[in-house]
Amino acid sequence: MMPFAYTRAQSIGDAVAALVADPQAQLLAGGTNLVDLIKYDVAQPLTVVDINRLPLKGIADLPDGSLRIGALASNSAVAYDPRVRERFPLLVSAILAGASPQLRNAATTGGNLLQRTRCYYFYDPASPCNKREPGSGCAAVGGLNRIHAILGASDACIAVHPSDMCVALAALDATVEVEGPDGAREIAFADFHRLPGNTPDKDTTLAHDEIITGIRLEANHFAANHTYLKLRDRLSYAFALVSVAAAVQIAEGRIIELRVALGGVAHKPWRDQLAEAEFAGAPAAEETFARLADRLLAQAKGQGHNDFKIPLARLAVVRALRQAVNGRSQNQTVKAIQ
Ligand code: SF4
Repeated sequence: MMPFAYTRAQSIGDAVAALVADPQAQLLAGGTNLVDLIKYDVAQPLTVVDINRLPLKGIADLPDGSLRIGALASNSAVAYDPRVRERFPLLVSAILAGASPQLRNAATTGGNLLQRTRCYYFYDPASPCNKREPGSGCAAVGGLNRIHAILGASDACIAVHPSDMCVALAALDATVEVEGPDGAREIAFADFHRLPGNTPDKDTTLAHDEIITGIRLEANHFAANHTYLKLRDRLSYAFALVSVAAAVQIAEGRIIELRVALGGVAHKPWRDQLAEAEFAGAPAAEETFARLADRLLAQAKGQGHNDFKIPLARLAVVRALRQAVNGRSQNQTVKAIQ
């Protein structure tokens, strides 16, 4: 582990100034990913800027009916907030499907968006990895790639985004609020995470000198019919092999609006909004779910060890939509797949 200077930001402006001053500086919030990255020598910042004292922990109703979650609100604070539970139960379910209670108490909303892939080669500085060291190659292509991407991958990187919470935020069309040297701006959630292309070292469209200040969720009609279905090697404390956040608005047996986001399959939460729009008006029935699953997985490509993810994802989409339409969202306490 490299030695680093530790500073504590007293304001958002302080944090931004520290990022502007040092292109390698890293912000420290919950630290549940960054501290590991530093210990493994994957991240080697010369400056770590602690932002835990910034006033970004609040969860607030806005006049337009949306809900704003501060970037430093812990995953637990969000999951147990009565307003989030009532209006965005899909988000609650996804948060409770992830990590452990101890980690959720420490991990923050902003940090969840910025957590890095769990590709084993990324965490091993002895292995080539274009994400850790651009131009060094990708050990996962032709290597062990059981947990890797089936959609949106490139020759340079086949890693997947590890978050559960972000899959729900993608389905809910969240807005990310950020602040940088030029002031505040907003990023639509679909544009926040990137596909790897030739620059897999960049996970997001956030500039180095910008800080996430919050997430905004618009009111929706999905509280009754939603689910977060997470399939993994063990039922607790494991990253998703495949996950599905599904939300449906139904009337008289037909779909009015539909959202399906996939986790564990790509470098970002995966959605196909064109496909979703085409299924508006279709019967809320198994045959529709199967057709949509086929459509979502039509371009899927395995890497060898992870070929099983393609049929698994297809089945998961169908099962998740069945759960959502039946109003029986996946129980994250019992965890047995319903
Ligand atoms: Fe690195 Fe991406 Fe290849 Fe993993 S899949 S070794 S993160 S370049």
